[in-house]
Amino acid sequence: MESWGFSVDHSARLWKYLYLGLAGSFEQLPEIPARVRSRLAAETRIGALRVSLETESNDGFTRKFLLGLPDGGAIETVLMRFTGRATACVSSQVGCAMGCVFCATGQMGFRRHLAAGEIVSQVVHAARALRAREPRRLRNVVLMGMGEPLHNYDAVMRAVDIMRDPGGLGLGAERITLSTVGVVPGIRRMADEARPIHLAVSLHSANQEERAAMVPAARRWPLDELMDACRHFCATLNRRIFFEWTLIAGRNDTADHAHAVGRLIRGLPAQVNLIPLNPTAGFSGAPSRTEAARRFQGILTRDYGLPSTVRQRRGIDIAAGCGQLAAPAGTPVNRTAPTAPGS
Ligand code: SAH
Ligand code: SF4
Repeated sequence: MESWGFSVDHSARLWKYLYLGLAGSFEQLPEIPARVRSRLAAETRIGALRVSLETESNDGFTRKFLLGLPDGGAIETVLMRFTGRATACVSSQVGCAMGCVFCATGQMGFRRHLAAGEIVSQVVHAARALRAREPRRLRNVVLMGMGEPLHNYDAVMRAVDIMRDPGGLGLGAERITLSTVGVVPGIRRMADEARPIHLAVSLHSANQEERAAMVPAARRWPLDELMDACRHFCATLNRRIFFEWTLIAGRNDTADHAHAVGRLIRGLPAQVNLIPLNPTAGFSGAPSRTEAARRFQGILTRDYGLPSTVRQRRGIDIAAGCGQLAAPAGTPVNRTAPTAPGS
């Protein structure tokens, strides 16, 4: 690029405009000479994702974007606003190969990995949408959208590095959480590479057979190997780990289940995040009742000293809750639909 006058200084400014200023077009780059700008405009693109559908929950706090990819595929990204903070839930793949029975993404199968830029673009997109609403910067990201992030390790970690760059989006590592179905080699690699982000492991059952019936990936990475990897993660990094537990009425929400998970993870610096099942077309289970969730929590706290939370149900009316994200094959990308603010 040097040959056409694009210097290191230009690239630093460009980075700042794109990730700090959230610029959506080359015209918004005043410090870059016009000749460089026009060349950039001719040969590159800002943000490869176009909004093909945007929906907002009735309470106005959750916004879901169906984003079209250049190859015709589509992914979903969710922006959740809470009091005092906002979180973007981003996808790492188009579909998912892991096939968890209760998950809409799993039900659609695997299409492809996302590139690092396609992951970061979702964060930029959510940050712009937030800025259009309130004078706040996006500070939290969860890799809990479509796909299994540790099945796309390199692109996801590159994206995380870009999100954390202090000259750009500047997200703190402690504000980024990656959720995995339990890809053992990926968990070990995160530990060995001392990746500073939070790790959440989707457990759902403390019994190998019962878990494998819900999470087929458990056959490849059985529970004992998974727990070894989790212990390795906590010991190597001296860090807390989160376990996710989708609460399905009668299936994994009894007192026996709570005791089983308590015994399984006792001794680990762990927190359990309980997620009442969200409805999806391909699974007929029901979410646990509030009393069952409370009883589950009570056993974890009282008998095992384990902290836990019940995840707030957000955006269920627009299918933006955990496990509800999906984009049907050939989702038409309406190019005349409004693009993200500023793009
Ligand atoms: N692939 C990763 C991250 C995406 S799913 C993973 O599986 O961890 C994010 C979380 O939503 C996971 O804990 C997953 O088990 C959970 N989940 C999937 N389908 C769900 C549903 N229908 N209701 C509630 N939680 C669900
Ligand atoms: Fe994939 Fe996670 Fe859904 Fe399982 S829960 S199918 S790993 S996205």
